[in-house]
Amino acid sequence: MNSPGPVDTAITYLDHAASAPMRPEAIEAMLPYLRDQYANPSGSHRFARQARQAVDESRDRVAAVLGCRPNDVVFTGCGTESDNMAITGAVTRSGGVAVCPATEHHAVLEVVEHHGGVVVGVDHAGRVDLEHLAAALDEIVAADRSVAIVSVMTVNNEVGSINDLAAVRRVVRRHAPGALLHTDAVQAVCWLDLREVTPHVDLLALSAHKFGGPKGVGVLVENGGPKINPLIIGGGQERERRSGTHNTAGIVAASVALELADAERATEVVRIAALRDRLVDELCTHLDGVTETLDRSEKIAGSGHVCIEGIESEALLFLLDEEAVCASAASACASGAMEPSHVLAAMGVPAERSLGALRLTLGHTTTDADIDRGVHVVTKAVQRLRSHTDQAHTDRGMA
Ligand code: PLP
Repeated sequence: MNSPGPVDTAITYLDHAASAPMRPEAIEAMLPYLRDQYANPSGSHRFARQARQAVDESRDRVAAVLGCRPNDVVFTGCGTESDNMAITGAVTRSGGVAVCPATEHHAVLEVVEHHGGVVVGVDHAGRVDLEHLAAALDEIVAADRSVAIVSVMTVNNEVGSINDLAAVRRVVRRHAPGALLHTDAVQAVCWLDLREVTPHVDLLALSAHKFGGPKGVGVLVENGGPKINPLIIGGGQERERRSGTHNTAGIVAASVALELADAERATEVVRIAALRDRLVDELCTHLDGVTETLDRSEKIAGSGHVCIEGIESEALLFLLDEEAVCASAASACASGAMEPSHVLAAMGVPAERSLGALRLTLGHTTTDADIDRGVHVVTKAVQRLRSHTDQAHTDRGMA
């Protein structure tokens, strides 16, 4: 098979929320486990025990960054699996109802809907509306049903808003004391110290490829010990909580990437916020009709999200792609097809504005040069699309 070769270095990558480039240290850390130490960590010979030790040391590193006990860390196959495991595992364990806000990632939303759960409203920033949540929990309890799990994401993947999990926990404890609280923290690692989030939740999901680790590695923290049914059963790995042979190389690399993201967070948040601010400010200066979807004070540093009047996202992304600028509109989906954003709709953004949505997300490899080029290419592409629209109007007027 032909290797695709290295990515063209001329690429301007402003799509970190879809997937971040792997950190070189994480790539280096995984190589020995692909090349030399390939034994199955569940085996009993010394070679297997070495692999087992690598998995356990990775578990210790992950636990230290997340502020939980090593035994509460369950390695999974991706963020989607971790979310599915939390919700399905809670519903099948207790028979109760699953609840989430309307702006969750599909990895949560579709699972809650699949189990006949309840979807609650959000505020202007896409954060869960705590009054709606309380009312929904009261309604479930009044109907003589129990709440199995409430799932509220730490950071929204489209617009970058942040939920206050401590406040969510207070509502859940007051209105449905038996319910578990799960958070999808997949987009949070590079921007927030999760040691301040973990104590408020029972379950927490991560995905390694969002913070410079490899694809195909997820984490589910079961804070304080097992509380849910396993999703994948079989060989009994991960103390019967997630069967399947460990991805040793991926787990080691994920833990290295997580430690690095944690260590550099304080400086990176300042550096990236400045780059994001320049990116968005310059787009607003060069182009009329660009509005920021959300105030910067309400979102993480790496998120730039604007709505651009008079263009359609799909056409814009096509032109950006031609110029090797990687960005997105709604979140990435399997087909690559553009779907109207359920997040913007739930936030009350009018359809005509969300039609021109552009998500530009920054991360550990983003440089000043990326911002210069991003501003230049987006500005030119929008001007080109608008001039086509103006021309079409003129032509129609003349016809
Ligand atoms: N949750 C959120 C908030 C995400 O942004 C994503 C990925 O886009 C996922 C879950 C799914 O993670 P994975 O790609 O590892 O399945």
